[in-house]
Amino acid sequence: MRAPAYPSRLVILGHPVAQSRSPIFQNAALEYAGLTQRYTALDVAPDALAETLRVLATEHAGGNVTMPHKQAVFLAAHRTSALAARVGSMNTFWHEDGELVGHNTDVAGVLATVRALCPTGVRDAQCTVLGAGGAAAAVFVALDELGCRNIRVCARTASRAELLAERVRVNIKVFDTVEAAVQGSAIVINATPIGMRGNEVPIAPARLSPNAVVFDLVYRPDTTPWVRQARLQGLRAEDGLRMLIEQGAEAFRSWFNTEPSTDIMRRAIGAHAVT
Ligand code: NAP
Repeated sequence: MRAPAYPSRLVILGHPVAQSRSPIFQNAALEYAGLTQRYTALDVAPDALAETLRVLATEHAGGNVTMPHKQAVFLAAHRTSALAARVGSMNTFWHEDGELVGHNTDVAGVLATVRALCPTGVRDAQCTVLGAGGAAAAVFVALDELGCRNIRVCARTASRAELLAERVRVNIKVFDTVEAAVQGSAIVINATPIGMRGNEVPIAPARLSPNAVVFDLVYRPDTTPWVRQARLQGLRAEDGLRMLIEQGAEAFRSWFNTEPSTDIMRRAIGAHAVT
């Protein structure tokens, strides 16, 4: 129990950060739990990050980190969880005895979504991941934790995929084209920003296996073009909303050592059903 060390307030550090929906659902969960702390977005330019971290330490604040600060805050942390160390990035922080402590809660978000989409598990499934950035690292580790032994990746910069696979110590086969990578895959996961804006999709759902499951890490209020197209084709598909809420719930547990209401979080942000 870390009750005396609860964060005095919570922030999300980013640049830009106004688009973040974390304040919406975290404040709803804080209020529901009867906690007085509030969660705010803090737009911090890279050259102001060190001073901001110093002030947050004196305030005993906690929070989340998003682009472009994930790597810098990871390097600034005195300690991280074993999971954050393996993924090589952290998105959640707090202070203990004046020290900056970090954790990666994206893995929990991926685990929850893959479990919901594939209730019988992915141990024997062929899984393809598109992209090789920070979110893909969390996906690789989550798939590995779920026992998946057949992981494929296709990334715009192939060398980044090779390096990432080595760093997270997961056996991953790298493919040159998305079409080749998704061939025969039971689950296809988009960990690129494709679909955040406009109508572009990572790959046409018609090119996937007839029973493939689609997981798009991207989230948009009215779901993503890829998820919409996949569902129209009768595929089981989910966007990044569940992951967003579940990573937030795991962060809440880290800060307060207590269970938040994911229902309240979901209601605050607006839910999308799995179809
Ligand atoms: P990142 O570190 O910048 O990595 C992005 C990856 O996608 C890289 O491999 C990059 O290739 C590739 N990429 C970028 N633009 C592309 C394009 N137009 N075509 C093909 N590949 C492209 O980003 P990240 O942090 O991993 O985030 C990836 C996505 O996941 C974002 O959309 C983010 O919103 C989403 N995400 C969602 C959640 C959630 O809770 N739902 C959590 C984390 C992230 P290069 O190496 O060549 O640049």
